[in-house]
Amino acid sequence: MRMLRWMGHETQERFFNSWLFRSGLKAPQGSERCSERNKPVHHWREEMFRNAVLDALDSPLQGLSAGRGKDLSMVFVLDRDIRPLMPTTPKRARLLLAQGRAVVHRIAPFVIRLRDRRVEDCVLQPVALKIDPGSQTSGMALARVEETEAGDVHHALFLSEVSHRGQQVHRNKGTQRNARRRRRSANLRHRAPRFNNRSIPLGWLAPSILSRLDNTVTWTNRLSQWVPLIRIDVERVRFDTHLLQNPELTGVDYQRGELAGWEVRAYLLIKYGYHCVYCGKTDCPFELDHLLPRSRGGSNRISNLVLSCHECNATKGNQTATEWGHPEVAAQAKQPLKDAAAVNATRFKLVEALTAFGLPVGTWSGGRTRWNRARFSIEKTHALDALCVGELAGVEPGSLKTLAITATGRGDHCRTNWTKHGFPRSYKMRPKMVAGFATGDRIKARVPAPLKTEGIYVGRVAVRKSKSFSITTHTGEVDGVNAKYCHLMQRGDGYSYAIV
Ligand SMILES: [Zn+2]
Repeated sequence: MRMLRWMGHETQERFFNSWLFRSGLKAPQGSERCSERNKPVHHWREEMFRNAVLDALDSPLQGLSAGRGKDLSMVFVLDRDIRPLMPTTPKRARLLLAQGRAVVHRIAPFVIRLRDRRVEDCVLQPVALKIDPGSQTSGMALARVEETEAGDVHHALFLSEVSHRGQQVHRNKGTQRNARRRRRSANLRHRAPRFNNRSIPLGWLAPSILSRLDNTVTWTNRLSQWVPLIRIDVERVRFDTHLLQNPELTGVDYQRGELAGWEVRAYLLIKYGYHCVYCGKTDCPFELDHLLPRSRGGSNRISNLVLSCHECNATKGNQTATEWGHPEVAAQAKQPLKDAAAVNATRFKLVEALTAFGLPVGTWSGGRTRWNRARFSIEKTHALDALCVGELAGVEPGSLKTLAITATGRGDHCRTNWTKHGFPRSYKMRPKMVAGFATGDRIKARVPAPLKTEGIYVGRVAVRKSKSFSITTHTGEVDGVNAKYCHLMQRGDGYSYAIV
């Protein structure tokens, strides 16, 4: 206990509860307990404990990076001038913090800042940001780029899924519209109705779509501050029309699983809306059916191919679609899908916005992503999909955990709660802050023993005027935690975080 004498009683208790103590760091060598008598005393160790206790008070790694050993998420590292360095492992980050060589820069996602390093003295490796935009969830991955003779091999450094709040924005806009209509009919102060005087400016996007775009741009911006990015790879189109231009797909047999074949599959999946054209089945592995069978001289031309389930394909056998009683399928196959289905406005805008970062932006097709995923046998998740975007010779996903980033918004300016029809129902409290906390802040609460909610909670807080807060942790929600047991870890930034 000698080494703990300089700590106060409360600090000691915190120290014993801290991750540092549990993580198995040994007592200072050269103390009586050390088996090697003449081993020199490492002075930095005492300093290490002192700083560790100071830094560990809020157990920065707990909750977010709880997994030790193989399953982990990397820690972002900045230099002393807040410029990005290569990410490191949680273990190394713990040691750097313990030695006092680093300080905590940010908790979620975890970022540390070295106190004794400048980027000029470090060796940086190329890191690419890879994005798979989606309407509900976008995958975002960081990969270390290793150049080999066969091409680039991407080693995952960070996997994340950004969940958008497009639906919520859409609902809120509806409520806002109804509230405005009510103000007119109730003869309250209102904006004059507008009609026939509006034109949608070129490139206008709906607010719900814009919020999805903004989330992706926000996270690109944040990540570009934490890692040395050299380029951005983004999936812009569902399939590559250039690879579909040649109707015969000369030299490339679609069945061999070459890239062009995957573009054909992506095209047909979109065109037939993930349905079997004959029976309409949806949740099954699809096959490519030849309207005029190969055995009767049918080609691999895209207009001769449709999407079909295994049963229909087998039953149809050697007949044409018309002979089998589906002339409408043959007619539909003749009509080409418009390019608009492949390139949607959001993705186009996203690429435009990403070029503003001044990094080279590579745009790729969804067919290529699916091809890569099949070639390297990668599981289908949003984050791993993002990792498979682009021209690759290999992918090393490692055993990283995925950070689920959910857009939560930053609360409302308006203090009225509306019904969806635009009638005022109740009022929010005037200030957003209660006892120094606001809804969305990341906090740590230590509730003592005799209380019903006893325990330690780390998570996102929702505040009440009564100072009885509710905290959403990664395991669930706890209600009725008093403000006096809460400590602030990080201010709300419009997103909530969890490890998948
Ligand atoms: Zn079928």
